[in-house]
Amino acid sequence: MASTVRRRRAARLVAAVREVLRAAIEAGGSSLRDYVQASGQRGYFQHRFSVYNRAGEPCPGCDCGGAIRRIVQAGRSTFYCPRRQR
Ligand SMILES: [Zn+2]
Repeated sequence: MASTVRRRRAARLVAAVREVLRAAIEAGGSSLRDYVQASGQRGYFQHRFSVYNRAGEPCPGCDCGGAIRRIVQAGRSTFYCPRRQR
């Protein structure tokens, strides 16, 4: 049944988002420009980004055979795989 599939996919997404947030917090956040922690220290999670700022490069660990795409939403760039992230 379609709603069961949707629910399962949503549960997987929630688990993945939690895991990424946990890892990002552990790394102290992402210092791309001026972000620092309350203590003034920089974060290091940006070193673990797979697709950020890589538009046109081959998609890592993927069989899409394509390139990372970039779109702009509300003035912010979003980078994604057109097959795995639709
Ligand atoms: Zn891909």
